Amino acid sequence: MLDRPIAKTAVVIGSGFGGLALAIRLQAAGIQTTLVEKRDRPGGRAYVYEDQGFTFDAGPTVITDPSALEELFALTGRKLSDYVELLPVSPFYRLCWEDGYAFDYVNDQAELDRQIGAKNPKDLEGYRRFLAYSKEVFEEGYLKLGTVPFLNFKDMVRAGPQLARLQAWRSVYAKVASFIEDEQLRQAFSFHSLLVGGNPFATSSIYALIHALERQWGVWFPRGGTGALVAGMVKLFEDTGGTVHLSAEVERIEVEGDRAKAVVLKDGRRFAADLVASNADVVHTYDKLLAGTPRGATAAKSLKRKKFSMSLFVVYFGLKTHRPDIQHHTVCFGARYRELIGEIFKGDVLPEDFSLYLHNPCATDPSLAPPGAGSFYVLSPVPHLGNADIDWEVEGPRYRDRILDYLEERYIPGLKADLVTSRIFTPLDFRDELNAHVGSAFSLDPVLTQSAWFRPHNRDDEIENLYIVGAGTHPGAGVPGVVGSAKATAGLMIADATLA
Ligand SMILES: Cc1cc2nc3c(=O)[nH]c(=O)nc-3n(C[C@H](O)[C@H](O)[C@H](O)COP(=O)(O)OP(=O)(O)OC[C@H]3O[C@@H](n4cnc5c(N)ncnc54)[C@H](O)[C@@H]3O)c2cc1C
Repeated sequence: MLDRPIAKTAVVIGSGFGGLALAIRLQAAGIQTTLVEKRDRPGGRAYVYEDQGFTFDAGPTVITDPSALEELFALTGRKLSDYVELLPVSPFYRLCWEDGYAFDYVNDQAELDRQIGAKNPKDLEGYRRFLAYSKEVFEEGYLKLGTVPFLNFKDMVRAGPQLARLQAWRSVYAKVASFIEDEQLRQAFSFHSLLVGGNPFATSSIYALIHALERQWGVWFPRGGTGALVAGMVKLFEDTGGTVHLSAEVERIEVEGDRAKAVVLKDGRRFAADLVASNADVVHTYDKLLAGTPRGATAAKSLKRKKFSMSLFVVYFGLKTHRPDIQHHTVCFGARYRELIGEIFKGDVLPEDFSLYLHNPCATDPSLAPPGAGSFYVLSPVPHLGNADIDWEVEGPRYRDRILDYLEERYIPGLKADLVTSRIFTPLDFRDELNAHVGSAFSLDPVLTQSAWFRPHNRDDEIENLYIVGAGTHPGAGVPGVVGSAKATAGLMIADATLA
């Protein structure tokens, strides 16, 4: 190891939150870093559409754990607040059911107690025990293990006793149900794993940590939208000397023996580097970018056998009118919960009914639409393309109309008359725009058997200077997850560069 030249350059493929956070960390450590992104704008799933004065954040809108973002800026001696302003969101979410019941999920204990007590007094005590459990898994699963790479099975064995004590083999829903009796409250405290692509009935109860994480640091929204946070991170990276190339799709990673040498773009440009990291979809990385290498073939084959998270169908729409009565984050539960989720994760057809997440960012920041108007998105979790062969070219517009009709009937009266613009993003777009395997919105399903050491590793097992960052590696999807993966991956890259 010591006879190699000092590694000084890195290329990061993909500018999702994971790629950006990694690039910032490498640049801050003195490694000259180049970021290459397929699309014309950075951000990956956090892309931004602009249309007739409306700004639509394409993906993440619930920004949690600002401390992980602040840490990135602090690494370079700067402050997050000099680049982007985070605005608090309250309630965190309004949760609505078809029978008219609504629960405002806030960070005020007295108000939470009041609502839980009004719904089912017996659940007050259960909620307290759930919160204590959630805090414990947050300590173990997020604070202790969320940013350390699991490269060896012994790392997993070391975490074993804690995982066993916390009953990590049980599902989020099963664990919540062991504390809370009321079905709607069970849904209110178990749906969170869906935000990172996990089925509450199958995902490890470790994901109950999201509740404590939100209670600890709050829910935030960047002024100007999530896109403003992406822009701030890009600026930070460039201010510290990093280089970004947009509309720069990587065709292959050049490998010689057990070392990556360069990345080659579709347009023929070649970037040689001492270290190469991929933030692109993990199956795409092994199957396409490493096509023709023995490692690419074996890793892709084994990855394709794994379970992938569901996909999403998203409608971005602008209305003539602002709707301040609709909370920033609204979850509209449908009539079915367990059965619907089962069909979304395992079914081979598009379910008739849906549960929706409705985003009304103008409730926090009216600048995202023309004066007096409102920009929205609504998303519906749907099966991925590997399970359900739905012709989204045909079904997409129909599904959009069904969803907008439903919203008009129950949540946004006069929606159709006020509609100025709309666009849809379907599983086909996840596949074709983002190179996501089977159009999954969150990469590998975060079940216990695909988490930590069982997830693709932050450093490849065979190509010694190739690294993975983002939703497909440890710890997993969601903005805090991929920013945490960047910390784990950067730690390895910086150590390897120093040793080399
Ligand atoms: C609609 C939606 C809503 C969400 N809401 C939330 C939320 O509210 N809160 C939250 O925490 N999380 C949310 N998530 C999850 C979160 O957005 C993702 O887990 C996270 O942003 C993924 O980041 P990533 O680093 O894995 O990269 P990605 O965002 O997946 O980016 C990967 C990048 O790689 C690029 N790329 C792919 N192939 C190539 C190639 N060959 N060459 C060059 N570039 C390539 C892609 O174009 C893309 O830009 C949401 C996700 C979606 C889809």
